[in-house]
Amino acid sequence: MKHDQSKLIRTQIERTAEGEHSSPLFLTSSFCFDEAETMRAAFADESDDNIYSRFSNPNVQEFVDRLAVLEHAEAGFTTASGMSAVFGSFMALLKKGDHLLSCNAIFGSTHNVISKYLPKYGMEYSYVSAAATAAEWEEAIQPNTKMIYLESPTNPGLEVLDIAMISAIAKKHNVILNVDNCFATPIGQTPIDLGADLVVHSATKWIDGQGRVLGGAVLGKKELIHEIYLFCRNTGPSLSPFNAWVLSKSLETLEVRMERHSKSALSIAQKLEGHPKINFVKYPFLQSHPQHAIAIKQMKDGGGIVCFELKGGLEAGRQFLNRLKMLSLTANLGDTRSIASHPASTTHARLSEAERQAVSITPGLIRISVGLEHEEDILNDILQALGA
Ligand SMILES: *Cc1c(COP(=O)(O)O)cnc(C)c1O
Repeated sequence: MKHDQSKLIRTQIERTAEGEHSSPLFLTSSFCFDEAETMRAAFADESDDNIYSRFSNPNVQEFVDRLAVLEHAEAGFTTASGMSAVFGSFMALLKKGDHLLSCNAIFGSTHNVISKYLPKYGMEYSYVSAAATAAEWEEAIQPNTKMIYLESPTNPGLEVLDIAMISAIAKKHNVILNVDNCFATPIGQTPIDLGADLVVHSATKWIDGQGRVLGGAVLGKKELIHEIYLFCRNTGPSLSPFNAWVLSKSLETLEVRMERHSKSALSIAQKLEGHPKINFVKYPFLQSHPQHAIAIKQMKDGGGIVCFELKGGLEAGRQFLNRLKMLSLTANLGDTRSIASHPASTTHARLSEAERQAVSITPGLIRISVGLEHEEDILNDILQALGA
């Protein structure tokens, strides 16, 4: 098979004696052995036999294998949530005295893990801005820097970072590059092809795509994934077989869903540009995006998130949310249902004004996760909420 999409669809748990066409669900905590010798060999890592679902499970393995096809990765491990994937990738690969260099425009909980918890274990960190040049990234690397961490496009500001440029710096200094690919999805960009060593995902978002289950994943170099696997196998943030079954099914439709999400998002972004109630619209594939050139170089599509800034700041943001009739007000993204959020009064309300400015969150910023309703209905709800 030539195409990832075909390989992914045809990567499947081996058919059982029942002859099922779709993968069955293996809801079992542990697996049986016929004799002492095969059990000994499994525990000694001499076979791939499943032992216990905290370590491995057929549904989880199918999900990993399919994601690895899409991300062009050697190996992977999936977790109970995106945050356990992020945390596991830090804790398995960093030790006391190591330094993590991260972009400052990252998911809120990731920011907390880095700045609140890593120092408790003697790990150091520093941040650079999403707009940092190659020279600024390089200057920020310290002798003890072990990992570079970034998201692109960033949540919620939609800044685009040049992954190939940063990976060249990481390679030069022998530093692991770890990229959160949640917003772009492997359909939109494959960071490993751009030089990343690891890719982390919140599968809760576009990968599930229907707002049902939490899940996370880390993919990349075999030897790095093995360390993460050992950390997670012992500490327990493993993905439930049921969630893995749901997420693996979701991957079969990820490409067609992302094509529609991205097409609608671009169209809505274009139609909102220049609206009298809006200061600016931000979308990676709009000509006016500050890093448009990088976006079209490294992304196949612009993704499903559109941001815009309302004239009238915080109060205009609240008013906009209150006037929406169809779009949901909820703390998620990447659903079939379109979602609106106002970061300054919700997810990022605890930051200071200066901290919000530093990560491009202005008081009137609205984030739209463009769903699979008809594009015209989504746009019309946004337009009526903007008011006359
Ligand atoms: C939601 C999100 C996460 C965390 O994922 P969970 O599945 O909620 O734990 C990490 N990174 C980004 C960019 C996200 O949007």
